[in-house]
Amino acid sequence: VLDVAWAERWMHAAAADVRDARDELTELDRRIGDGDHGVNMDRGLSAVVERLDDPAQAPRETVGQVLRLAATTMMSTVGGAAGPLYGTALLRASKVTDRADLPSSGVVALVEAALEGIVARGRATVGEKTMVDAWQPAAEAAEQAEDAEDGIDVLRAAAAAAASGAEATIPLVATKGRASYLAERSAGTQDPGARSTAIILAAAVAAAE
Ligand code: ADP
Ligand code: MG
Ligand code: MG
Repeated sequence: VLDVAWAERWMHAAAADVRDARDELTELDRRIGDGDHGVNMDRGLSAVVERLDDPAQAPRETVGQVLRLAATTMMSTVGGAAGPLYGTALLRASKVTDRADLPSSGVVALVEAALEGIVARGRATVGEKTMVDAWQPAAEAAEQAEDAEDGIDVLRAAAAAAASGAEATIPLVATKGRASYLAERSAGTQDPGARSTAIILAAAVAAAE
């Protein structure tokens, strides 16, 4: 079940998997940005886990409360472009998940709200070589899987689509974010934020299994 314990396991798994991928993310961002995405995301998600594990924090009663804590922590600790983008995504997602567990439609709402937050904040569209290239196919795949009996199947569909979307950023020329400064030279490298999105959504699946 996709309950509060799942949401907390998701954040722990995301933090562990981003830490494992820190050098990979940093290398992608070194090639087409300023080389800090791995460090930024590791710092932010480590802080999320620290706050979740802090006994002084009130226990969470809804999935939305977990995501809200993650949102505010990411906003205040990640910095750069990704901090406000992930922060807004998680904040929007928290607003549609204020319940003890999520049915399939709740997973669809979560992913759609996250995408909407990123687009509202960064104004990127698909094909601009940003994390939207992972989140948008994830939201579309989630919508198509909405009839699944189990929300985990919706998550699986979203995570698979995010991974393909992230891979598909490799040949693209960036027109948003720091990578756009490189113009044609941004082609040939996967977008770091799209890659971290794929990792974080894969962690949501792993936490549910
Ligand atoms: P910074 O570029 O400030 O160093 P990060 O390296 O942490 O921040 O994050 C870079 C990632 O942010 C990019 O790989 C891209 O996915 C994402 N990004 C940047 N600008 C935008 C935008 N306008 N919309 C969506 N995502 C964006
Ligand atoms: Mg960077
Ligand atoms: Mg930076």
